[in-house]
Amino acid sequence: MLRIAIIGSGPAGCYLADQLLRLLPNSSIDVLERLPVPFGLVRYGVAPDHQGTKAIARVLDRALSRDGVGFFGNVEVGRDVRLDELMSLHDAVVLATGATSDRRLGIPGEELPGVVGSSAFTGWYNGRPESQPPPAHGVRSAVIIGNGNVAIDVVRVLAKCPAELAGSDLSSEATAWLQAQPIETIHMVGRRGAADARFTGHEIDKLGTLQRAGPFVVDPAGLVGESAVLETLRRFASENRTTPVTINFHFNLTPTAFLGDGPLRAVQFRSAEEGVVELPAELAITCIGYEAVACCDVTTQNGVFPNQDGKIRDRLYVVGWAKRGPSGTIPTNRVEAQQVAQKIAQEVNTSNRVGGSGLRQLLDQRQVRWVDYAAWHHIDAAELARAGEGRSRQKFVTVAAMLEAAQLLPLRRA
Ligand code: NAP
Repeated sequence: MLRIAIIGSGPAGCYLADQLLRLLPNSSIDVLERLPVPFGLVRYGVAPDHQGTKAIARVLDRALSRDGVGFFGNVEVGRDVRLDELMSLHDAVVLATGATSDRRLGIPGEELPGVVGSSAFTGWYNGRPESQPPPAHGVRSAVIIGNGNVAIDVVRVLAKCPAELAGSDLSSEATAWLQAQPIETIHMVGRRGAADARFTGHEIDKLGTLQRAGPFVVDPAGLVGESAVLETLRRFASENRTTPVTINFHFNLTPTAFLGDGPLRAVQFRSAEEGVVELPAELAITCIGYEAVACCDVTTQNGVFPNQDGKIRDRLYVVGWAKRGPSGTIPTNRVEAQQVAQKIAQEVNTSNRVGGSGLRQLLDQRQVRWVDYAAWHHIDAAELARAGEGRSRQKFVTVAAMLEAAQLLPLRRA
């Protein structure tokens, strides 16, 4: 019987738990999660109006519910338990901690109020504990930097009217903030041409169907080539919808500075053809990718944990964005989990380590208020029950509120 700890309960961690149990039905898997609630990026990254994608949480939940899997929510490695302690309790430990830190542009003005990274912004509109509203008010013009699907999510959430967000689980704080902004223009800016954009045809297509916002291509002559994205952009360029909000598509603009004395006033770009270009903005959101952060003594290089096909060192493995960087779709994690599970099954030997019972004992000794699978379902049920009209779920946005809903006993006994 192998005893394995997985740090992180997002898609990468849950798919790995599932694959390990398929390969090694007698193994015992402990899934640790920093927050009291599971599912990582599915809960806090996927856009609130993409409930179809968020429904994958049901599949991930099934993995956590299986015999042989223990969920340890509200347990932060480095705060509540050390990595070396987990290594001594388990035969193998896997980092499934994702890429949680925003990549930075490294240009002047990045610290100005009004400049926000997409992890911070999407976490906030998804109600992630400890997240802050964007430090910007009276936003008439927003600049979104990056041409990936995250940039499209951000543009869409800014562009939609309240009725279009019905049925989502957008936090009430975010709903109120968005409604208060007199937004007129959203600039979506790519540093390369339209043919090199990384967003998908399906996602960009949706920007042409919004109620109060319409797309506008700033330089239609630059739309050269054949692809689903280019076809959609050419269609956008040929339609002349007049809408209260305009989504301007700019290409071949490299960001060079955020400008403002105090709050953000504009974003400056360099263009090969036009020289310096300035776009006015009270809010700028950089959607340029994410980096993994160190876990105890295990450090990252170029935004990932250096690894050989998922192996960091003897008995220590990595999956998901922490392994390969922020790329691929949610199902990419399932395929990768199969490969890493096979590697673990081939390489790791059983021993007399105690696994979950030892972890429970350690956490209880330290009086950590950890959340098990049943307690997570108390939180889940409470969030669904308080959703109210027009919302699929009303998340708790503080750890304290989650723990209260979890109905934890004062201290668990191992
Ligand atoms: P992404 O697809 O890698 O896009 C990042 C964008 O940032 C690219 O346009 C990139 O330009 C740009 N960029 C990077 N560094 C830059 C810099 N220094 N200056 C200006 N621009 C810079 O990443 P993402 O949008 O964060 O998405 C991450 C993953 O999640 C992707 O696999 C994505 O498909 C997936 N996702 C999927 C969905 C969905 O299916 N609905 C939704 C959200 C996310 P270059 O191309 O020039 O490097």
